[in-house]
Amino acid sequence: MLSINTQPSDTYTLDTLHDATETHPSLILRQADRCDRCGAQAFFIAKKNNGLDLLFCGHHGHKFSGSLIIQGFIVHDQTYRINESVSS
Ligand SMILES: [Zn+2]
Repeated sequence: MLSINTQPSDTYTLDTLHDATETHPSLILRQADRCDRCGAQAFFIAKKNNGLDLLFCGHHGHKFSGSLIIQGFIVHDQTYRINESVSS
C-alpha cells in the first residue's frame, strides 16, 4: 500500500517551470546530464527533500514521473528544451 506524501500543491506545477529555472540555475539540465536508466540525454530532473536527485530522459521521465511524485519527488519537466539547438 502506498503512503501518499501530501506535499503542498504548488510544489509540482509545470506552468512555473520556466520561472523556476531562471531563479534556480541548478535545475537547468545540460547536454552532459544523462538518464539514470538508459544513459540518453536527460530532460527530467526529480528532486527529493533528502537531497536525492534523479535524472531521466524524455521517455523515462514521462514513464516514471507519476510514481516519483507519489513518492514525494518534485519533478521538473524540461522536455521543452529538447529542440533547442546546440551551437557549440
Ligand atoms: Zn532513459
